[in-house]
Amino acid sequence: MLFIGLLILKWLFIIILAIVILTSLFLKFAPTFGGKPSADTIDRITNSPNFNGKTFVNLPSSKPFALQTVSNITPYTEGTQTHTTQSGNFLWQFLFPPKGKNPSHPIDTLPLNLKQKISNNVEHHPYDNTLKDGEFVWLGHSTVLFRISGKLLMTDPVFHSASPVPFFVKPFKMTNPPKAEDLPFVDAVLISHDHYDHLDHKAVKKLTHKVGHFYVPLGVKSHLIRWGVLETNISEYDWYECTTIAGNPSFENDGDINITFAPTKHFSGRRLTGQNTSLWGSWAVQSKQLSVYFSGDGGYSEEFAKIGERFGGFDVAFIEDGAYNQNWRNVHMMPEESAQAGIDVKAKVVLPIHWGKFDLSVHHWREPVRRLKSAFDTYNSKLLPCQRIRVTTPRIGEVFTLDNLPSAPWWEQES
Ligand SMILES: [Zn+2]
Repeated sequence: MLFIGLLILKWLFIIILAIVILTSLFLKFAPTFGGKPSADTIDRITNSPNFNGKTFVNLPSSKPFALQTVSNITPYTEGTQTHTTQSGNFLWQFLFPPKGKNPSHPIDTLPLNLKQKISNNVEHHPYDNTLKDGEFVWLGHSTVLFRISGKLLMTDPVFHSASPVPFFVKPFKMTNPPKAEDLPFVDAVLISHDHYDHLDHKAVKKLTHKVGHFYVPLGVKSHLIRWGVLETNISEYDWYECTTIAGNPSFENDGDINITFAPTKHFSGRRLTGQNTSLWGSWAVQSKQLSVYFSGDGGYSEEFAKIGERFGGFDVAFIEDGAYNQNWRNVHMMPEESAQAGIDVKAKVVLPIHWGKFDLSVHHWREPVRRLKSAFDTYNSKLLPCQRIRVTTPRIGEVFTLDNLPSAPWWEQES
């Protein structure tokens, strides 16, 4: 009996030791954690006005948080259960999630038909029959593909999982899941920050030879280099740094495109240690005919109004709406705050993003879009029709233009 007990103890010890060693090796060597910044990047980081000597820091807030326009919104309720997450019951809801937190069936999505005809010349794309100028397609969460002044741009391409471990935090099941393999050549990829649901190392590896240039926050370049992207194809940005790229000469284009990295109230990091050593933010993209704002991630702040003033508003804003709860309010907006952010940046059209793909908090999967739409209904009801902000809610994979905005509540048909 004693012998059997010792034998079990021995094997338990061996198994625990093996788990500890394998976990340590994974944490030390797995490529998904990214690379270490070069001396040049470290120099830029240490000289950044947004770096305090140890980490990047959010901009100071000069006034207390208050929603000026969207207020008194009744939280969405389904049946008798309120899905609004209060700080006290977060752990309870995390352990015992509400019904409907994930879709029970595959979400009905549209197939991507964006395959490019073969072109040997990657500088010019004379056979590019993918999106037309001014066309957009949301690929779920924060991934949006659009063409501006002839150039094809994409925000935060994420297709695999939203965690360092491939089988955790997988995308919801979809009838036609968007795949990195189905994408055409993309001229520019804009990355908001290095969290796993925004920077997918497998997607970057698959897209390396299909992307003209990566625009990333300061401190993120080393990750992409470790995953095989040429250093010359990556540019790093501090807040309010900008660049200008030429329109695509193969298209009828409206000239240069200005791309500016702008602040958000968030954080960064791909490991438990070394957080906030790379920057986070949002992007403003402007041509003569079209202006686009991509919010990235962040809590509500007065910076949205400053961004609205500085850039003179936007034709369309992709606004974070999802993965929130009261405990995370400093780093993720509640849906009513997302609506306020859209108003503050002076968007004519708001596309809610950061929902519909991953289960990252404790709310019902449909709650973000329902609450945001409800907030805008309240806001718009006080305005003349021509003053109203339009909310577009395309299906994942549905191509649209700003003159032809999908607004059907398709998520109501999903279970
Ligand atoms: Zn994030």
